[in-house]
Amino acid sequence: MADVAVVGAGPAGLMAAEVLAADGARVTLYDAMARPGRKFLLAGRGGLNLTHSEPLEPFLARYACPEIEPHIRAFPPAALMAWCEGLGQALFIGSSGRVFPRAMKASPLLRAWLRRLEGMGVAFRPHARWLGFGEGRALRFEGFEIAPDAAVLALGGASWPLLGSDGAWVRAFAPDQVAPLLPANMGFRVAWSAAFATRFAGTPLKRLALSHAGRSWRGEAMVTRQGIEGGLIYAAAARLRDAAPVTVTLDLRPDLDHAALAARLGGGAQSLSNRLRRAGLAPVAAGLVQEALRAGAPRGDLAALIKALPLRLEEPMGLARAISTAGGLRWSALDGALMLRARPGVFCAGEMLDWEAPTGGYLLQGCFATGRAAALGALGFLSRPASPGPASSAG
Ligand SMILES: Cc1cc2nc3c(=O)[nH]c(=O)nc-3n(C[C@H](O)[C@H](O)[C@H](O)COP(=O)(O)OP(=O)(O)OC[C@H]3O[C@@H](n4cnc5c(N)ncnc54)[C@H](O)[C@@H]3O)c2cc1C
Repeated sequence: MADVAVVGAGPAGLMAAEVLAADGARVTLYDAMARPGRKFLLAGRGGLNLTHSEPLEPFLARYACPEIEPHIRAFPPAALMAWCEGLGQALFIGSSGRVFPRAMKASPLLRAWLRRLEGMGVAFRPHARWLGFGEGRALRFEGFEIAPDAAVLALGGASWPLLGSDGAWVRAFAPDQVAPLLPANMGFRVAWSAAFATRFAGTPLKRLALSHAGRSWRGEAMVTRQGIEGGLIYAAAARLRDAAPVTVTLDLRPDLDHAALAARLGGGAQSLSNRLRRAGLAPVAAGLVQEALRAGAPRGDLAALIKALPLRLEEPMGLARAISTAGGLRWSALDGALMLRARPGVFCAGEMLDWEAPTGGYLLQGCFATGRAAALGALGFLSRPASPGPASSAG
């Protein structure tokens, strides 16, 4: 029986542990935190969008990352859905095509999963902070060292560091092996007036469109005290991240064309707020128009302003509050089985790898699929006639 260490007990590490244990490996799961799956539980607060039901080809296009494709093809959304149902978690597909557990949270799934892993003999070692590589096969933790036959590292990105994934693992690798960790699926800071921020922080902006540089997205957003976040903003975030500060264009009534909107707005004899109400703008959307006018937007054609409202995004919100992390361990540091080229026997998975995807279930799908792929890679490595130990040089 081979000894395999899985470091990181998020969805990627838990999936790796399951695949390894199912094949008979003796698996120990290490995590810096007291309990597994802290960020997974947080993801459950938003309903736990596990994956997406769209056809596989458009699904794969969301990643724009050829390296992750084979792993998702090998464990596609349908396989993930069947796996969840195998854990007794009934699923449903929302009107947007997103897939959720009926429970709309992660805790029942995580509980069932941990019970299954325990039944398979997977041992969990909490408060075990991995520090880096030692000599030969060794993995160094705070206060102890191990030398397993193979290992899977699934250490996550660097958002919500209080939940365990703090990106400190980067220091164990040579700088050229890691693409800088950046916020992904994050909000942006906006210099709201004090009056607008006080009145509308926490208010959703429904059914709007955002355009930038010839691309446009539809969805919902949320005003926060410091700026704006939510699905619509996250969808555009990867493109806006490097451009900020950047002025985007909002269409506050994307369902009405200019002429229909102008007719609803009526003549200029009425007060501005009456006209905006007649046009069906919610108070928060009307507030955005007022903000734009205060900032100097032309008053002449109100319909045109509502359909192309400029909004200046000052800068991305920090990594600590982002939904996910862009950047990570470069694919060039790994072989096709997700094994570190410089460390035979050490495999990597999940958000710590250099890929990003929008919200919609693509993040968890990528983590589950690469967790499984890394475990299969480790099993392949262990079944080789003579497994060479990891090289002693760092990373
Ligand atoms: C608010 C929020 C909502 C989200 N909602 C969704 C959603 O609905 N759908 C979706 O697809 N995705 C969602 N995500 C993203 C998703 O949760 C992550 O992509 C996913 O959890 C990453 O899985 P992972 O296993 O790679 O890493 P993580 O879940 O981050 O797990 C990594 C583990 O490694 C441990 N670790 C880190 N460093 C060390 C170390 N040095 N030593 C030992 N242990 C260490 C951590 O404690 C952690 O347990 C959401 C994220 C957030 C923040």
